[in-house]
Amino acid sequence: DGKKQKEKSVGSFDIKLVGAEKGKVVTRFPPEPSGYLHIGHAKASLMNQYFAKHYEGKMILRFDDTNPSKEKDEFVENILHDLKSLEIHPDETTYTSDHFPKMLVLAEKMIKKGMLYADDTPVEKMREERMEGIDSVRRNRPVEENLKVFKEMQQGTEEGQKHCIRVKLDMQNLNKALRDPVCFRCNLTPHHRTGTTYKVYPTYDFACPYVDSAEGVTHSLRTIEYKDREAQFKWILKLQQEVEPSLPNVNIWEFSRLNMVNTVMSKRKLQWFVDTGRVSSWTDPRFPTVQGLLRRGLTVPALRDFILQQGASKNTTNQEWDKLWTLNKKLIDPVCGRHTAVVADKRVPVDLVNGPAEPEVEIVLRHRKNPATGKKALTKTNRILIDQEDAKAVAKGEEVTFMSWGNCFIDDVKTDASGEVVGLVGRLNPGGDVKATKLKLTWLPDIQDNLDLNLVYYDHIITKKKIEEGDKIEDLVNPDSKKEVAAIGDSNCRNLQKGEIIQLERKGYFIVDEAYLNDKKPMVLNHIPDGRQK
Ligand code: ATP
Ligand code: MG
Ligand code: MG
Repeated sequence: DGKKQKEKSVGSFDIKLVGAEKGKVVTRFPPEPSGYLHIGHAKASLMNQYFAKHYEGKMILRFDDTNPSKEKDEFVENILHDLKSLEIHPDETTYTSDHFPKMLVLAEKMIKKGMLYADDTPVEKMREERMEGIDSVRRNRPVEENLKVFKEMQQGTEEGQKHCIRVKLDMQNLNKALRDPVCFRCNLTPHHRTGTTYKVYPTYDFACPYVDSAEGVTHSLRTIEYKDREAQFKWILKLQQEVEPSLPNVNIWEFSRLNMVNTVMSKRKLQWFVDTGRVSSWTDPRFPTVQGLLRRGLTVPALRDFILQQGASKNTTNQEWDKLWTLNKKLIDPVCGRHTAVVADKRVPVDLVNGPAEPEVEIVLRHRKNPATGKKALTKTNRILIDQEDAKAVAKGEEVTFMSWGNCFIDDVKTDASGEVVGLVGRLNPGGDVKATKLKLTWLPDIQDNLDLNLVYYDHIITKKKIEEGDKIEDLVNPDSKKEVAAIGDSNCRNLQKGEIIQLERKGYFIVDEAYLNDKKPMVLNHIPDGRQK
């Protein structure tokens, strides 16, 4: 059946949807507002937008809000925000909860036709019966009784709460998704939109076919792990259409789920990280959420390229983060300004015997090859600061190059008893050949104007590349996924805005997480991975 989807895969995205007509295609992205969007959702939403645009149709954003225990307005608001960040602009926004009244009427009609029944088999037993293909004792209840229980459920009475409603499909079918799936459940938790109006809620399995059809969705894009449920979707929609003949058909088109190495994507697991304080929030830069990734310095064009490169492949693979960060680096490197920082702890002063007596300020480009990045001040003084690591590498008498300045002979290297370098004495050699030196060193003038920086390095929160069935997340948590390094940065950093990406020379790419506020508080810069293994 799936083979019917004739796919001509020339370019990564040159695929056809079966039964698609220009101007008539309607797709939908249906997030449940039970978390923030992650990179997998980014893929799903981009695919839906892609097809809607390609066929000059429309895309619906549907909040699939059928479980009040998990859903919140906070999530609705952040999903809207995330889509905007991804430059995904739905043509319409709907809520599954808007369809509750009609779905209740529909269910009543279906009960009357003997298509649904009320069941109070305990959960465990129901699971066993489903595994073994055994009919529930309630399967052939009289219609009147089913209607009565359904009323009780809608009122949330004690008797009602013991029940669920199931669709009578085929308890012996080899496809277990067809063994009388549950279609309505009681839940007394107030719903984020409908409050306490409803006490009974449709399941995804019942709501999805109905709402897709009722909203005129022509192509329902689903991730491949729902393959077993495709038959169920079609069967349930067919029953719904018998009762409501005006409901149109819906095509199903499958695409592969995006998984990333060392990453959990399930919202339940992500919520666990938030609830147990292992990350700061859903926007933590270690999270695969859109907001987390953007805070880590990922750019939207890189994310889009990454997703579109995978195209319509139906193989579910574990993608490497390095691949994404390499794409990102190619985009940010040509356009980000260059700045300088030195690790605050154990920084080493270099006295330049022939350096300028008074500070000299030059105005230079923030990126040598890109004037569009603007200009910055370069201050030269007769005492400069370098990293301990660099100081250790210098031999007495060696000629080195101070970047953006020139060559210098190091006439003396002073160390303390423990072998740490505590100071260098240098003699500038303006005529020296910068190509001839081995060490090109980063330096800062030793002036009050330097800024305190907090450089934050993040790592995976999960230690295992591919999480397997049966793994306990608690056992896989990386206890060391955040490292902070105090540094001082050039005075120009004062002007950087939150979200701006820069390169700190020889230290890598960083994004401003907290801009300069006052001298009491260091700026916070998050390190951006560049795709090279550490
Ligand atoms: P969870 O099961 O963790 O609560 P979900 O994956 O079901 O979440 P939804 O909010 O229901 O999340 O997903 C909205 C849409 O995004 C669905 O169409 C789903 O198939 C798609 N989607 C979710 N995760 C991924 C993923 N990793 N790759 C591709 N698409 C995804
Ligand atoms: Mg879901
Ligand atoms: Mg899921």
